[in-house]
Amino acid sequence: MQKKNPQKEIQSSQGIMSTILQNIPKESNVTKIDYEGPKIALYTNSPKYLLENNEIISNLVNIIKKRIVIRTDESIRKIEEEAKQIIINQIPKDANLQGMFFDNAIGEVSVEVKRPWLLQNTKFNVSEITERVGWRLRIRKAATKTSTTVQTINYNLKISSSDRSKQLKQIGEKIFRPRLSRKSEVSLLTLGGFGQVGRSCMLLMTQDSKILIDCGVNPGTRNPTESFPRLDWANITLDDLDAIVISHAHLDHTGFLPVLCKYGYKGPIYCTEPTLPMMNLIQLDAIKVSAAQGKSPIYSERDVKQIMKQTITLPYSTVTDIAPDIKLVLSNAGHILGSSTCHFHIGNGDHNFVYTGDIKYGKSMLFESASWNYPRVETLLIESTYGAKEDIQPTRQEVESAFINAINTTLVDGGKILIPIPAVGRAQEIMMVIDQYMKSGEMIESPVFMEGMISEASAIHESYPEYLARELKQKILETDNNPFDSEYFTNIEHPDAREEPLRDNMHCIIIATSGMLEGGPVLEYFKNIAPVKKNKILFVSYQVNGTLGRRVLDGTKQVSLIGKNGKIEAANINCSIEKLDGFSGHSDYNQLISFVHKLRPKLRRVLVNHGERRKSENLSMSIRRMFRIPTHYPQIQEAIKLF
Ligand SMILES: [Zn+2]
Repeated sequence: MQKKNPQKEIQSSQGIMSTILQNIPKESNVTKIDYEGPKIALYTNSPKYLLENNEIISNLVNIIKKRIVIRTDESIRKIEEEAKQIIINQIPKDANLQGMFFDNAIGEVSVEVKRPWLLQNTKFNVSEITERVGWRLRIRKAATKTSTTVQTINYNLKISSSDRSKQLKQIGEKIFRPRLSRKSEVSLLTLGGFGQVGRSCMLLMTQDSKILIDCGVNPGTRNPTESFPRLDWANITLDDLDAIVISHAHLDHTGFLPVLCKYGYKGPIYCTEPTLPMMNLIQLDAIKVSAAQGKSPIYSERDVKQIMKQTITLPYSTVTDIAPDIKLVLSNAGHILGSSTCHFHIGNGDHNFVYTGDIKYGKSMLFESASWNYPRVETLLIESTYGAKEDIQPTRQEVESAFINAINTTLVDGGKILIPIPAVGRAQEIMMVIDQYMKSGEMIESPVFMEGMISEASAIHESYPEYLARELKQKILETDNNPFDSEYFTNIEHPDAREEPLRDNMHCIIIATSGMLEGGPVLEYFKNIAPVKKNKILFVSYQVNGTLGRRVLDGTKQVSLIGKNGKIEAANINCSIEKLDGFSGHSDYNQLISFVHKLRPKLRRVLVNHGERRKSENLSMSIRRMFRIPTHYPQIQEAIKLF
């Protein structure tokens, strides 16, 4: 008689369902078991029982090794208006309810309040309210200013809810299909972002599955064979892909993704929850930028909306099946909001591949340092933006005191400080630094004006405090001392409002986009601020060769700008110019080496990407010499056998 292998049986759909039914108490009142993408959804008539006895679900997860989620049976869901009223009555006035969003596809209601800590008491019983309204409650912190990006996503999720339910079920069936082969063979095809910074993209392949990792563009080039990932070379159709995994929102990792949706990619896109609004914001902005430069955009707003419908967001540190033989865990990468390292567990632990994405191994005010605690890694693929030996940045302490000094000296003289800044990430980091040091008294208190996409990007940061550094998260979720809501900050909503920061006797800090003086509202301020000697232009981000920012930094005394009516205007630069390194979201050379050193599992091989060729080569050599393990810095269009 053939002996049954229990692990093998649970791999099949029927096995999963019957194991759940055998192991769940009657009181759970489970009415239906269904796939919800990579998760198994248990629908119940009495959610309170399962919510209050969570050991039942954790035991089940241990047996079937799959993610399980509790859902309410549709029959018990009250109509939205009625559910809304019941919830409103339960929420204390002081918590300051801002809105509710009902997601029909999964029966969940997000309740947004200004002061979520007031709901952390026994009077506000989440499982009891869930039982009453028939919708699962999710309490969220409402941002100071509502993020329109998050609102648009919610709206698109709502109008596509019935399609999404069907899609999630199909995705689940595809993930949990029987494996074709028991043997694991793993290879990696390099499609972009190797020996360069830009168009990051690669294909991870086994006999059973194909996963595309990142899908960026190279914004600096015009020629399609140099701007876009070499998917043509990979010789696959979009239907062959099981999933796309996105490490973080930057354009060099996501800029080509809308094009795949435009040409018919229908499968799941996995990333963290804040990565979705962040990449939407960045992708839509890229359309505007191309239009302003007179180029025709490679995708439209419709394609960006399509991404919202196909994305499945994953929390950090959760094991998720994304293909019959591949599990994925995303962990904090410390680089920008929602950025993640991607751990692929292939076969039954046959091979473990970690892709760092862009990584900051060092704490900032916004984020914790990148996670390093992987249970197993055989192949590591690490970025090398600052992979050359001379790429050493000052410590946080050094850069923060230099920043305080740079601001104070100008404010004392009665001048204004203009900080040209990229809207996403760096702007929020600088805001946090300013707020902290003005409050502590080390920086002279002054108004801070902001213009550009900064306030929208900040609203997204504030909407996902779970992804921010511990202290900042605690301030936002548990106190009224929320730095994003600081009284120092004023957002300039309209060009007419620029008069105030530009007034003669106004000593202030102005933070505006773009970061390299290549267009955006920063130029309007620049024209006024640059000619006056007591003012200062303070750069806190990298200035690429050929940009106006770089020329100013290199000491140009006069520049030509396009004025209001398309006329060329000359601006003299008499103010002081300063640049500070050390606020970077990337690890410097020392941090990259420390990260590799910190990894406990024995690495078999290290691959290096995301850097100019010389930097990748140097990091690769250094790691080989120091750790005595084989390393390689592939170029684009290489096929590498990992296992
Ligand atoms: Zn990045």
